[in-house]
Parts: sequence; C-alpha cells; structure tokens
Amino acid sequence: MSQITLKNVTKEFVTRGGHRVVAVDNFNLTINEGECFSFLGPSGCGKTTTLRMIAGFEDLSEGEIWLGDKPVSIKSKNLYVPPEERGLGMVFQSFAVWPHLNVFENVAFPLRVMKLPKHEIRERVLSALSHTDLLSSERVYPSDLSGGQQQRIALARSIVTNPRVMLLDEPLSNLDPKLRESMRFEIKALQKKFNFTIIFVTHDQSEAMALSDRMLVMDLGKIVQVGAPDELYQNPTNKFVYGFLGLSNFLKVEAVKGNVFPKGGVDMPIPFKLPEGVADGDGLLASRPNEIDISMDAEGGYPAKIEKRLYMTFCIEYHIKIGKQTIRIHTSHANVFPEGSDCFIHFKNPRWYAKESQEIELERTERQVF
Ligand code: ADP
Ligand code: MG
Repeated sequence: MSQITLKNVTKEFVTRGGHRVVAVDNFNLTINEGECFSFLGPSGCGKTTTLRMIAGFEDLSEGEIWLGDKPVSIKSKNLYVPPEERGLGMVFQSFAVWPHLNVFENVAFPLRVMKLPKHEIRERVLSALSHTDLLSSERVYPSDLSGGQQQRIALARSIVTNPRVMLLDEPLSNLDPKLRESMRFEIKALQKKFNFTIIFVTHDQSEAMALSDRMLVMDLGKIVQVGAPDELYQNPTNKFVYGFLGLSNFLKVEAVKGNVFPKGGVDMPIPFKLPEGVADGDGLLASRPNEIDISMDAEGGYPAKIEKRLYMTFCIEYHIKIGKQTIRIHTSHANVFPEGSDCFIHFKNPRWYAKESQEIELERTERQVF
C-alpha cells in the first residue's frame, strides 16, 4: 500500500519584496509504507516546505496530498485536515523541547493533549524513554542535557504517539559529526522496532545515502531524480545530481566530429565515446577522483602532469593538469608519484553532461535560507 501520495503539489510564496517564489513546483510522488525516504537538496530547494505541507502546517497552492486512502489536503475542494488529525510524528532541526518541562513531561505532552489516562501516559512515556536511552534522565530538565540527548527527547516525544509516519527535518544538523553518525543508526533501529514510514530531510548526501531505501534529489523547487541511493549514485541524470552525490571533477570539453577535446587548446582527444544523441559542442566530462588511475606508463593513458600531491588519511590526492585545467585524483597510499612529473591518466567511468547556465547557479544562491 502506498502511504503518502503527492499529486501535482505546488506551493508559491510571495516574499516581503513582492517577488514570487515557486518553492515546490508540481510534485508527483509516492512514498511506500515502511519506507525510509529522503528529500535531499541544497538550502532553499523546497525540502522544508514540502514536509510542512505533508504535516499540514502549510496550505497548498495547488494539488493533493493523500495518506493511505485518505485525502488530507485537496486544494480544489478546499479540503484540509489539521496536523493533529494526520497521525504523523515530527522532529525538526532545532531541538524543539520545552525548557520549563523535565524530560518526562516533554515526552508526555502529546499524550496529555490527547487526554489519555494517567497510567497509560506513564507506561507509554517510560517505553519511549527506554527506546531512546533516556530512562535515567526522566526528571532532568533539557538545559542540563547535551545536544544529542535533547534531540533524543524530541525523538521520544514523536514516537510516543505511535505515529505511522515520521517526518524528520534535518534532525541531526545541529549535532557534532560523531554523534550524527550514531544517531543515524538509532533512527534506523527505532524504525525497525516500530515499523513506521520515515521522510527524512537533509542537505547531507552521505546521511541520505546511509539511511534511505529511496531518495529524491530536488533543486530549485523541482524533483530532479528519484531512486535508490545506489541507482542515483551510479546513474545521475544531470550535472547537478552528479555533483551533489559525491566528489566530482567537471572537465570543460568540446566535442568535434564526435571526438572529445579538453578546452584550452589541447589537441589530443580523450578516449571517450559521446553518448548517443549528443551533438558536437561544449560540455562537461564528469569523473570522480577515485575513478581515475594514474600511471607513468603511456599504455592507454591520457597525457597529463602532476601539479601537487597531498598525503591524506584515506588516500593520496593528486592535482593533475590537463592543458590549463586541474582535476583531482584519489589513489591508495601505495601509489606515490613525484610532484612536477609527467604522467598518464585513465578515466574509468567518465560521463558527459551538459553545462548549467549561470542563471541557474544564481537562482540557487538567491533561494538559500539560513
Ligand atoms: P529548504 O528546506 O530546502 O532549505 P525551504 O522549503 O525552506 O527550503 O524554502 C524554499 C524556498 O521558499 C526558499 O526560496 C525560501 O526562501 C522560500 N520560502 C520558504 N518559506 C517562505 C515563506 N514563509 N515566505 C516566503 N518565502 C518562503
Ligand atoms: Mg529546510
């Protein structure tokens, strides 16, 4: 059964300056029951707005949202189910805990609103606290707890109502990197125990890839690509997705009669077959730093020059000159080549992408929210 369905969902804002922003542009999307689904994209691409519309905190400009077989927002019929009747749990980026209530009361709050009997509240809160490792802090006030523990309070408060869907909006962004990583596993473990559907919003691609069954990459209010993490990583549909999902080089190139030359007066073509249907002209040859080999042996390689070598913890990084352009290559620590020497490189999995216009880059900057 599909749990959450968005049909032609659009949200337009008018900013204070009277300028119109289409924050969410015609979303069509189905998220399945029990799935961990991430919205991934840069600041301002519309992630929070989409989540707030699903939660019922934000009206739609157009379209419909369904939870299971029940409509919760239908713009054309003015149908709108308020957030508290949608049965969703939510956790936000900022630790939305009440400073004047102790941990127990913070978690009990939604159950008190539901007017449940006292003994049931106690039972359910203690169970939520034990699942989030907070039992010993029951009587403590949030200000005496760490950031990670405060975020656990928010998690405990959202699972205490047994929601079928959890909406998590950058819940780990304010935590330090180590804690972020361990909280990822805790969220997955909670999902396994309670079997809820998760929508996880993040701008961090490794977080999205580690957590998700499927994910959605969005840009400028639009869905760019939906799929499993490995599908998206192996087959990014455009330059934006490629660049967003991992380290990347974008070599400026020009195709002439099907041969691909680096820009800047390099007259030797790169061994690369233009994809079918791509016409001659300018483009980008995308490659990941760990998908290029370096050797001192001309065999099958493309001539380049080692400009710089950086010894790092997980690899050696080489800055390699091809004509006037520089690309990065990551090799194992076993491959030590001297700086300044000529070398040969071999792209193992290069891809051709069209260039992005400057207007698009500018619009992305203008949309950023802080
Ligand atoms: P994200 O969560 O991906 O960072 P948001 O959904 O918060 O992005 O915002 C998407 C776009 O909508 C941004 O350009 C933002 O400035 C704009 N926006 C969001 N909320 C409002 C609002 N209440 N009024 C006007 N513009 C808004
Ligand atoms: Mg946001």
